[in-house]
Amino acid sequence: MSHGQAYGHELRHDPAVLHASYADASPTPFWLDDPARPEPRPALAGDATADLVIVGGGFCGLWTALLAKERDPQRRVVLLEGRRIGWAASGRNGGFCEASLTHGEENGRLHFADELPTIDRLAEENHRAFAETLVRYGIDAEWEATGVLTVATEPHQVEPLRRAAKDGDLFLTGKALRAYGDSPLFRAGLLSPAGCAFVHPAKLAWGLADAAERLGVEIHENTPALRLRTSGDGVLIETRRGTVHAERAALATNAFPSLLPGMGLFTVPIYDYVLMTEPLTQEQLASIGWTGRHGMTDSSREFHYSRKTADDRILFGGYDAIYHRGRKVRDAQDQRPATFERLADHFFGTFPQLDGIRFTHRWGGAIDMSTQLVAFHGTARGGRVAYSAGYTGLGVGATRFGAEVMLDLLAGEDTERTRLRMSRRLPIPIPPEPFTYPLIQLMRRAVAKSDRDGGRDTPLLRLAGLFGVGFDS
Ligand SMILES: Cc1cc2nc3c(=O)[nH]c(=O)nc-3n(C[C@H](O)[C@H](O)[C@H](O)COP(=O)(O)OP(=O)(O)OC[C@H]3O[C@@H](n4cnc5c(N)ncnc54)[C@H](O)[C@@H]3O)c2cc1C
Repeated sequence: MSHGQAYGHELRHDPAVLHASYADASPTPFWLDDPARPEPRPALAGDATADLVIVGGGFCGLWTALLAKERDPQRRVVLLEGRRIGWAASGRNGGFCEASLTHGEENGRLHFADELPTIDRLAEENHRAFAETLVRYGIDAEWEATGVLTVATEPHQVEPLRRAAKDGDLFLTGKALRAYGDSPLFRAGLLSPAGCAFVHPAKLAWGLADAAERLGVEIHENTPALRLRTSGDGVLIETRRGTVHAERAALATNAFPSLLPGMGLFTVPIYDYVLMTEPLTQEQLASIGWTGRHGMTDSSREFHYSRKTADDRILFGGYDAIYHRGRKVRDAQDQRPATFERLADHFFGTFPQLDGIRFTHRWGGAIDMSTQLVAFHGTARGGRVAYSAGYTGLGVGATRFGAEVMLDLLAGEDTERTRLRMSRRLPIPIPPEPFTYPLIQLMRRAVAKSDRDGGRDTPLLRLAGLFGVGFDS
């Protein structure tokens, strides 16, 4: 084992065996590889008028559409999606729907200590309202509030994990731990039943789109918004085959280029990758102690996440957080053999009992990393345009909150949400290329070194922390 670590960058298994495990895997994200995927809605053909135009048909845009109609059923809302509803991050994520709006408590304390009690209360309200919406509209997104087991795989992670236990959490070792996750790499675990639910992300996106449509939202797929201009008191969004004239616009374009010049400096596309196993039998699941429905994650800075699907597959993703030189979102970057090999290596290291199983899907996708690892929201063009971005791998639940903030801001309302710093201030920008690549490589190396050195911050991470800059997925 390299440096005695549970997970390292060097392979521990025969590369040929690893390759065989995922060689036949489909490059389509498992969640989107579903005959229930709806047919695309027609593209915009001709000009349209609206009270609100939304750009982006991922979770953020879809929640904005749905909530806009709930707030004012008379409002005319048009949503433009460049490709397909939920095809990007929203249809290819791990489906961990966390209540946290701050990428965990530690990061929240680091950046928003004074606001944290308010943020945490708003986060809980958001999480509850999320679940209630699914019930209200009959959206079957396979919501499961089954909690998460966080494991310590290194000696230095055990005590911090024990100290992190909140009311209702279970700190587990030995046999008690093996009843939730039986791995030679697990030293201790913290089972937290609250604060995270699981969803089928694509079904969530499709269900939100359907619910929004039932409320009267007009959705156009395969309709990239090409340009945004102001006109009188409103905005014009130009597309290939028509222009939308609207009073207000909400931009929910995540890691893709913003229609607002300069906004691209506040996020950087970081790629996260996932493997999905074939369906496992009850005997196989019992052999790894994972008969419950909880998800799992580990405590390293470079961390994995895993969860089950409805048909008892295991999704295993994370660890590598890859920046591709050029700062672009490109389809070709959704596949990265070196990361799939590493993920398979770590999977079989975690659960050697499952030697010989196959992966049926392998994919990746872009997250929009911002330096505080937390989304930011704001307005431009005299309050006519709102944006919400920078979710950094924590957008499944938090995008609903971002949608509420955008609607508050566009209505000119002063609310608890709009008073938060994340709604008033932009994060520290990330320098453009040619500086982005070497900077991010430096940060990645520092993060890996910290994991090797017992979790201690390197001087670079300490310096970055002073400026409120982090690197994560
Ligand atoms: C592999 C992976 C795993 C993840 N796991 C988790 C997880 O377990 N939990 C969690 O909370 N988060 C996770 N995330 C992050 C989460 O998926 C995102 O934060 C969230 O989906 C962001 O939603 P969004 O609507 O902002 O972005 P997206 O889903 O990316 O949607 C943006 C949409 O805007 C459209 N668009 C962009 N520009 C234009 C334009 N000019 N005109 C028209 N349309 C445009 C795009 O086509 C796209 O559909 C993960 C992400 C990835 C990639």
